[in-house]
This record gives sequence, C-alpha cells and structure tokens, in this order.
Amino acid sequence: MALINENYLKLQAGYLFPEIGRRVSEFMAANPDKEVIKMGIGDVTKPLSPAIIKAFHAGVEEMANSETFRGYGPEQGYGFLREAIAENAYQKNGIEISADEIFVSDGSKSDTGNIQDIFGNDNKIAICDPSYPVYVDTTVMAGKTGDCKANGHYDGIVYMPCTVENNFVPDFPDQVPDLIFLCYPNNPTGTVATKAELKKWVDYALEHKSIILFDAAYEAFITDDDIPHSIYEIEGAKKVAIEFRSFSKTAGFTGTRCAYTVVPNELEAFGTDGKAYPVKPLWNRRQSTKFNGVSYPVQKAAAATFSEEGKKEVAETIAYYLGNAKIMRESMREIGYEVYGGENSPYVWVKTKDGMSSWDFFDKVLNEANVVGTPGSGFGPAGEGYFRFSAFADRENVIEAMERIKNLK
Ligand SMILES: *Cc1c(COP(=O)(O)O)cnc(C)c1O
Repeated sequence: MALINENYLKLQAGYLFPEIGRRVSEFMAANPDKEVIKMGIGDVTKPLSPAIIKAFHAGVEEMANSETFRGYGPEQGYGFLREAIAENAYQKNGIEISADEIFVSDGSKSDTGNIQDIFGNDNKIAICDPSYPVYVDTTVMAGKTGDCKANGHYDGIVYMPCTVENNFVPDFPDQVPDLIFLCYPNNPTGTVATKAELKKWVDYALEHKSIILFDAAYEAFITDDDIPHSIYEIEGAKKVAIEFRSFSKTAGFTGTRCAYTVVPNELEAFGTDGKAYPVKPLWNRRQSTKFNGVSYPVQKAAAATFSEEGKKEVAETIAYYLGNAKIMRESMREIGYEVYGGENSPYVWVKTKDGMSSWDFFDKVLNEANVVGTPGSGFGPAGEGYFRFSAFADRENVIEAMERIKNLK
C-alpha cells in the first residue's frame, strides 16, 4: 500500500490566488460588459528587454550548431553567469562574495522551499506574518509543523508579526528560532529594513547560532541610498545568512526562470553533537543530486542583464513600475487611506478603513470599481485589514483604477 506524505493533508485548501481567480471569474461572468483591471498577482507585465532578448536568441542559435551545442551544464550554473553575478551584484558594491559561493537556479520559489532539505527536522523555524506563502507551505510539506490552528497559524512555526507598530520588521520572538526567514524589500507589505534593523537580526543570529534565510527578490526596486540591497552589507552576515535573489522581478524572468542563491563559504550549521559543519557543501550536494541546472540560453539572457545596455533597460522598466507604485500610493493617501510600502518596492500595502476585513474590501473594490487587488489576510492573519496593490501593470490601467477607487462611495 502506497502511503502519501500526510503533511500535505495539513495544507490549507482555498489557496489565496485560486480564490481570487474564482471571485473574479464569477464577477466577470455576471458582468460581461465591465472592464476589470487586475493589480493582484505579483507577476511582471513588461516583456524582456532588447539586450536580454538578443543574448537569449544568440544562446538558442548556439544550441542549433554542432560546434557550439551544449548538453548538461554545471548544476551550479555556468561560470560566466556566476562570475557576472559575483562581480555586478556584490563586488562592485564592496561585498566580498565570490563566484563559487553562488548557485544559479530556476527560481527563488524553489530555492526558498528546497533549502530546508539541508537542515535538520528539529530546527525551530521563524516566519514573518504576513509573508510570501512559500515559506510556510514548504515548512508544512517538510513535516516540520503540526496542524493548522483556527487562527491560520501552524503549530510548530514561530510566527513573527510585522505590523505598523514594529515598522514591519519583526521583533525577536519569545522562542529562539534556528532558521529565520526574512524578506526585504518585503512581499506583501512593500516595506524595507534599514541597515540598523538588519544588523539587529544578524547579531541575534550570531549570538544564537541561527541562520537567516534572506529573500531579496525585490532588491532591484530599492531607491533609497541607505537601504541595504544585500544582507551581506551587514558585518558578520556571511557567517549566518543565505541570500536568495531572482531575475524574475528584477528583469522580467518570471516566465523565463532564473535565480540564484548565495551560500557563503563561512556559513556553518551544527550536528546534534554541537560539531560545526560548513553549509555550502550540503547545498552543493543537494543541487547536484536533485537539480540539473538552468538552460544555457536562459543563463546567457540572465548574464545580459549585467551588460551596459541590459542594466540601462532593466533600470528603465523598474522605474516604470515604481512610477506606478507612486501613483497608487499617492492616490490612496489622497482619499484618506493609510498606505505603506511602494517606495522601494512594487507593492503598496493599504490599510482598509473602519476595520473592514481584507476580503470585504476585495469584494467592494471588485464589485464597485472593477479592480482586483490582493487581500492582506491571504498572506497570514496579521495581514487582516490590509490590501495589497501590485505595481506590475500598465500605466493607463493604474491611473484608471485609481480614478475608479477615488470615486467609490
Ligand atoms: C516573486 C518572488 C520570488 C521569486 O520567485 P521566482 O521563483 O524566482 O520567480 C521570491 N520571493 C518572493 C517573496 C517573491 O515575491
């Protein structure tokens, strides 16, 4: 008798985006004459830029030619891309990360989920509330939790509320966690962490021999000079942090798939006997065993994001999205909403009025303004009473959506 992984039965059904899709389809079926504007799901809308496409095509051509054809590549990524990442994303900013500490992958979603493979089952895992759902769900799948409680929290996970009061950067929890997921600029709140706030967490991890799993998927949206782009800007972080970055939101690779994870040589974790082990060889082994690398043309395309042209084009697209975020932020403020994020991030986090629930606000905005956003409660109980707007949209749609919301009663 084949047994299932019963941890999957603990996962909550009615996942956020399918539920949004269901309500939107239902509305559209009932109101075929209404034009619905979608600012919900966190997916880019602009195409890959010319320099990236050119490199992508050249990579495809190489695959068509017997002299330049390539089969399996290195599981860790091609040297040209790892070098380009180390140099452009780190060394140019004064951070000493070398190419051999960089692992190219098909996405930060998979990496943030897969990373738990190399850590023991008895680790206490801390996750922000609200958060990107992948951290919680993959922790459940890995069997590191009990059941989901009535409040939407799983037994066994240490939840760290991120609220207005703590500036959306978590306080230290009552129980000391071993693995700590942090994401800045944050999805869903669109807020950032200062150097001082990240230093607090790095020092905490150093003190408790914990490891920070730092998701920097939105790093490219940072515009304030004093906001750190990398956890490794904090002294000591290479001893206690893994960083995840992705070309998805940075350069429009959500459908193309390329990301990378940094596992510093200095990073150590421990055996139950207290003996220290370097973490990098474990991740290298994990990837070499279960992953066969990213396709060559895609890696060529990713490397092109670091060319002069590529950088310029990527920066223009990001500025466009940030321009959308600014319009959303200012429009919502103008009509009296409390608004967070959206300055160094494509997400704007809006507090509903008069204690209205996230889903009630979703329905109101859908039914009366025909605009789709994301209910904050879908990212965790502490997101209740908030609503996320995504700036990944066309400018004219953003302007139109904001006009409609301004005219709501
Ligand atoms: C979009 C996103 C990612 C990127 O995922 P990919 O698999 O690289 O496309 C990672 N983390 C967060 C928080 C995200 O929102």
